[in-house]
Amino acid sequence: MTEQLLKILIVGDGCVGKSSFVHRYVSGQFNRSYKMTVGVDFSVKVLQWSDREKVRIHLWDIAGQEHFISMTRIYYKDALGCVVMFDVANESSFLSCRHWKQDLDNKVMLPNGDSIPCILLANKCDLAQRVVSADSIDKFSRANGFITWMETSVKENTNIGEAMRRLVQHILSIHSSLNPLDPRPEESATAPPGSEVNSNAAGGCC
Ligand code: GDP
Ligand code: MG
Repeated sequence: MTEQLLKILIVGDGCVGKSSFVHRYVSGQFNRSYKMTVGVDFSVKVLQWSDREKVRIHLWDIAGQEHFISMTRIYYKDALGCVVMFDVANESSFLSCRHWKQDLDNKVMLPNGDSIPCILLANKCDLAQRVVSADSIDKFSRANGFITWMETSVKENTNIGEAMRRLVQHILSIHSSLNPLDPRPEESATAPPGSEVNSNAAGGCC
């Protein structure tokens, strides 16, 4: 049995649902209110990917600031994939995705210079008051090098596991063709300074 360690980041404006997403993905629950995320929350999910492969995902969830900020390089270091999330009922959170993606691409890349795989998630698709059209998301996703985009609802548990599965699939396919990811022993996993390893995922709020 081999085990791959994948560091995956989740970025996007505050209140779009990042911490709820991580919490849902890791523990299968949706909570309405959370305490404020401070710094970085670090969560772990282990997937049995195939008979012989396990994938250990380290999800790095940033503090829930309202607007885009440039993240430190430490946050991006060794990341193999990224989720960029916005809220379909909040246009400015959609517009910020350009900055989030640019900041990511400026600070981390694959050994061959390509950007790391990144999926765009249009969260809160359960809400009636959507302001961002599927057409504009589609155009934006193609123009900015996302592997794909998906509508999600953390509230209704729509596409959460599927979105992560696609991202992980893409990461694994890239790395098996570029240079295989060495299966890393658990103890070499790098946690962010001062972070808490929490398989139940702490959350942020707005
Ligand atoms: P973060 O700041 O990006 O980490 O966002 P949070 O996870 O703290 O979520 C912000 C708010 O949006 C909370 O009140 C969540 O309950 C709510 N929320 C998250 N996902 C969804 C969703 O899919 N649908 C709806 N209606 N609300 C959501
Ligand atoms: Mg948060």
